[in-house]
Amino acid sequence: MSSDAASELIRHARSARVVVVGGGVAGLVAALECAKVGMQVTLLERSDRLGGLVASAELDGRMVDVAADGWRVAPGDFEDLIDELGLRERVVGARAGDTWVAGSFGTALLPEASILGIPASPFDARVARIIGWSGVWRAYLDRLRPPLTIGAERNLGALTSGRMGRRVLERMVAPLTWGIHSVPPERVDVDRAARGLNAALTRTGSLSGAVAQQLPDDRSAPPARATLEGGMSELIDAVSGRLADLEVEVRTGVDVTAIDRRVAGFAVEATGLDPDAGGEPVEADAVIVATPEPAARRLLAPLLADAGGPRLSPADLDVVTLVLDAPALDARPRGHAVYAVPDTAAATAVIHATATWPHTAGDPHVVRVTTPARGGSDAEVIAASTDAATELLGGDIGRVTAVHRATWTPALPSSALSPERDELRVALRRDPRIGVTGAWIDGTGITRVAADAKTEAERVRSALLWGGSAGDSASA
Ligand SMILES: Cc1cc2nc3c(=O)[nH]c(=O)nc-3n(C[C@H](O)[C@H](O)[C@H](O)COP(=O)(O)OP(=O)(O)OC[C@H]3O[C@@H](n4cnc5c(N)ncnc54)[C@H](O)[C@@H]3O)c2cc1C
Repeated sequence: MSSDAASELIRHARSARVVVVGGGVAGLVAALECAKVGMQVTLLERSDRLGGLVASAELDGRMVDVAADGWRVAPGDFEDLIDELGLRERVVGARAGDTWVAGSFGTALLPEASILGIPASPFDARVARIIGWSGVWRAYLDRLRPPLTIGAERNLGALTSGRMGRRVLERMVAPLTWGIHSVPPERVDVDRAARGLNAALTRTGSLSGAVAQQLPDDRSAPPARATLEGGMSELIDAVSGRLADLEVEVRTGVDVTAIDRRVAGFAVEATGLDPDAGGEPVEADAVIVATPEPAARRLLAPLLADAGGPRLSPADLDVVTLVLDAPALDARPRGHAVYAVPDTAAATAVIHATATWPHTAGDPHVVRVTTPARGGSDAEVIAASTDAATELLGGDIGRVTAVHRATWTPALPSSALSPERDELRVALRRDPRIGVTGAWIDGTGITRVAADAKTEAERVRSALLWGGSAGDSASA
């Protein structure tokens, strides 16, 4: 590129105005990607803080994560972001974690050799403890059965119950899909959730054999999850710092109510905009919508014909974080979490944060209790969550010294079997100047969300730099 062309491109980038709606991980990464090339970026966030589901609260004098508390380690965009933000020294790996399940059989460890709760050996003593010997013999049939549907079943529920029986499905697999992603196993696509498992099934002739083959040989491999030493709010602080360096205008307490298409670009209307400026809409050449599903659909419906339709995201969750003075729990760490067999306990999961992260180990303990949000006062929800923690953590949980309750909107995992979402994602991304990103449209999880936001920002960025106008296609 000649220096004239380069300076023309820089000038073009500097004059491009992008509004990002929503200040969770998706919105922050999208804003960063646009600002890096010199664009004028405004980020509008409804609440009074940034981070969305990456949230922390001061409890008993320490900052505690009250929703997402770490990420799945895998080479890619998110790890690059950690390096770019200078956070590498702050990264702490999770303890090689045990996972527990709870049900009519009590509370028991899942076998170490398992994937998505599917055991590599039906005869593992831990399997017998959870599903009983009749369940074990049924699971063993997997090894003897003809490979009828081998390699072709994408539905995790159908695959597991067909090969290893309903007890493996209901007591070992369903607690994880519900507890981690709020969906039944029947909504999980095996090919996306455990890449290679179906192919291994074809090679080995059984599901348990496939699991055994897919497990890493080296059990001392690096930790699968990581966090930041001071909690995940360090990530949000670091991105916010970068945005400030890049002169991004970040406005919190601004609830975006409408995005209007104008002859050239968009006008973004919101409550909470600067009254001194008359609360005037913010003008933009492109918008990136990075809110959860309800707001995204409402804002996009007038712009994109396909944006309406029934909600895809699972029901809201209540998450109660308890700080416990509970020396008795030192002897009963519950690995990363205890996941309940559906409909057998008052909670879907209890995460034992201080047993997960080595740098916070010991008393006081921090646990997070997740239940489907059914309304109720703080006192009622906290009391029910404390009882559920007592049950799932196996007895005495000592004295509650601090507590936090929040209701969060989860999203489908990227591994969900959801043709509706797959189609919607394509349909909503046809206009080169309207970006749509976030967990609800591409799949939950910080690493996934960050990677998708980067890709979506690049799409919008290149439309602004290299051409493509608002309403080129797919407008309502
Ligand atoms: C309880 C829980 C625990 C989780 N734990 C983990 C974990 O440990 N590790 C992991 O990788 N993932 C975890 N996840 C998933 C992960 O946190 C999310 O997938 C990810 O953080 C979502 O980011 P996002 O930016 O898409 O959405 P959000 O974080 O929801 O951010 C959206 C933002 O948009 C704002 N907004 C909404 N409407 C408007 C409006 N009209 N105008 C302006 N702003 C608006 C919201 O206030 C919010 O700040 C967890 C999820 C839940 C529910």
